[in-house]
Amino acid sequence: MTESSIRKNERTGGSASKFDYLIVGAGFAGSVLAERLASVGRRVLIVDRRPHIGGNAYDRYDDAGILIHPYGPHIFHTNSAEVFAYLSRFTEWRPYQHRVLASVDGQELPIPINLDTVNRLYGLNLTAFQVEEFFASVAEPVEKVRTSEDVVVGKVGRDLYNKFFRGYTRKQWGLDPSELDASVTARVPTRTNRDDRYFADTYQAMPLHGYTRMFEAMLAHPNIKVMLNTDYREILHLIPHDHLIYTGPVDAFFEYQYGRLPYRSLEFRHETHDMPQFQPVGTVNFPNDYAYTRISEFKHITGQRHERTSVVYEYPQAEGDPYYPVPRPENAELYKKYEALAQAQPDVTFVGRLATYRYYNMDQVVAQALTTFKKLQDQPVKEGEPLQV
Ligand code: FAD
Ligand code: UDP
Repeated sequence: MTESSIRKNERTGGSASKFDYLIVGAGFAGSVLAERLASVGRRVLIVDRRPHIGGNAYDRYDDAGILIHPYGPHIFHTNSAEVFAYLSRFTEWRPYQHRVLASVDGQELPIPINLDTVNRLYGLNLTAFQVEEFFASVAEPVEKVRTSEDVVVGKVGRDLYNKFFRGYTRKQWGLDPSELDASVTARVPTRTNRDDRYFADTYQAMPLHGYTRMFEAMLAHPNIKVMLNTDYREILHLIPHDHLIYTGPVDAFFEYQYGRLPYRSLEFRHETHDMPQFQPVGTVNFPNDYAYTRISEFKHITGQRHERTSVVYEYPQAEGDPYYPVPRPENAELYKKYEALAQAQPDVTFVGRLATYRYYNMDQVVAQALTTFKKLQDQPVKEGEPLQV
């Protein structure tokens, strides 16, 4: 055995005294980094305070035997060939294109707003060209698009804004669209054709056997140890490690020293119904009625066949588990203060939706984690051994 292989054995075997990385959070950010670092010989301990891996993308079978997403519907979509290829190492896929209807004025109409939405809402028979003219005639002039109201009224005018966006946004965020960054409602495009898919990305697919199986495959490496039901603060000083990777809420890490960073929460109400299908598409949005924003039916999304069906209602909340950063200027300013603290911690890396306060989709978190890995790889670890590819 060469000296270097002995050292490698020590690093990967049970005899090593120290973890190279302690990773807080076993969602996409933490699990991608654990997998990448383990693949180059680093020893990793990943902890999560929840009783499962996968973070908010975790899925499981409910009592009826239906695969559900306990933290709300998660549909994978990306334009990144790199992200898709990376995740494809851990799962096969089932092609799936999400469709959403919005319940407005007694009808269920396609959202994103498209040609059919306008024709059915107003009883018209416009062509794609005519609907473009229609949008131009009702759009309000907006000098500089700053807010989530500007984005929508500047494209489709006040009536469509009021019917599809204003109520939904006020419910979802507890704020008027005029108080939120443009980027929030800009997630939902406007179309002049009849494309009724919710996303237009190149890759749209669901992990064939679910997200949890995919995460299990990512974490199934002898260099990775997983510890669940554990807040990292319980073990931080008990388990020696060289570097910390943190994927929880950034303000909590710094004990809220500049005050709380607003995160929006949700309550999920899960139901199983004695019927094979509850609604015509994966998600129905309720912009103007009820306390919930949307109902999602999992079998559409997963493709599972079952004589019963499970759905989830989402009720937005101010308090509770943090799910969404709230994009608006004052929050960005407060986040900057936490970001400065984060940057001053050479032994800690902050990554993920909550730790970098970015309204990221799953693929964006994967991309951010892959970029972070490349940066960490360029940094020598404390013991002086450079990471190998
Ligand atoms: P998380 O998944 O939140 O993981 C962070 C983990 O850290 C958590 O498991 C948490 O328990 C753990 N943690 C926090 N603090 C501590 C601590 N002190 N000690 C130990 N562990 C700790 N994205 C899409 O691409 N498509 C979708 O359709 C989609 N739908 C969504 C629907 C909803 C309702 C929500 C809320 C999000 C949705 N997303 C969707 C976004 C997606 O969930 C996130 O982009 C992704 O899961 C973020 O991964 P993450 O690792 O950054 O964070
Ligand atoms: N939105 C809306 N009406 C809709 C759908 C979305 O007003 O029918 C707005 C709302 O502010 C929402 C945002 O657009 O929070 C982003 O929607 P998305 O479906 O991307 O939200 P997510 O799936 O991340 O909860």
